[in-house]
Amino acid sequence: MKSPISQILKSLHERYASFREGNVADYIPELSKANPDWFGICIATRDGHLYEVGDTRQKFTIQSISKALTYGLALEDRGEEHVLSRIGVEPSGDAFNAISLKPGTGTPFNPMINAGAIATCGQILESDGESRIQRITRYLSRCAGGQLEIDEEIYRSESMTGHRNRAIGWMLRNFDIIEEEPRDILETYFQQCSLRVTCADLAVMGATLANRGFNPITGERAIAHEYVDNVLGVMASCGMYDWSGEWIYRVGLPAKSGVGGGILAVLPGQLGIGVFSPPLDSQGNSARGIRVCMDLARELSLHMFNPS
Ligand code: GLU
Repeated sequence: MKSPISQILKSLHERYASFREGNVADYIPELSKANPDWFGICIATRDGHLYEVGDTRQKFTIQSISKALTYGLALEDRGEEHVLSRIGVEPSGDAFNAISLKPGTGTPFNPMINAGAIATCGQILESDGESRIQRITRYLSRCAGGQLEIDEEIYRSESMTGHRNRAIGWMLRNFDIIEEEPRDILETYFQQCSLRVTCADLAVMGATLANRGFNPITGERAIAHEYVDNVLGVMASCGMYDWSGEWIYRVGLPAKSGVGGGILAVLPGQLGIGVFSPPLDSQGNSARGIRVCMDLARELSLHMFNPS
């Protein structure tokens, strides 16, 4: 007999398979090649069970979802005080790619907007002969429980068109938020966003956050447990672009979305959710993904502020 969770996932998938709202991102030209029909939902529990339906093994780029996890790595490398002195934790109310820095100090509002994510990338140390991108890849791979790789086409496409992010990089340099030429940091940021994941990877990453930083599939420590609450805190307040307030009100879970169409959500102490569907709504969140998460939160009573 199928578990109740599998049945709920199956019926959600059927309910939204023909949902047609949203548009696949095309501001990074290579992203526009995604198939709008790709659709997967996966739940990974803290005790290592995986429930999945649809295109859960289709690869796509992690994009902004990486921002949440690399924030944890920067905290590990530099400590909370150092990171907070350079990157705030306040929702900005601006678009993800806004050139918005706090007046006077030039501090990015939070690590989930591009300015904050680029600054975060600059805080990650190169160590033991490993470059930043090698460390980030290894860290995200530990969170997913499998080796992640860069999608070179998407990386090239993003690097060739990422002039706005370059402008942000130079502003951060101007305010000494990053202390070196931003060129390499920006390339690292573009590569980090171009790491390929599956919807199942996102669910396992979520379950790792739900499990105090231990990957429940591999048993490995992936994220330092003392920073898990920092990561979940910014996801809860700033993770869903300009829909973050609505999201936490309606769905009630720390989450992060990316323009590749992924959403990673976490019920702390319990489970991680990965949803993948490329067409985005006007805020940049997966249109189908948002619907699925709202229904899932209601049907499985996942809202954190309404524990049952
Ligand atoms: N690499 C993308 C950018 O910087 C990430 C955007 C996103 O997923 O929000 O434009």
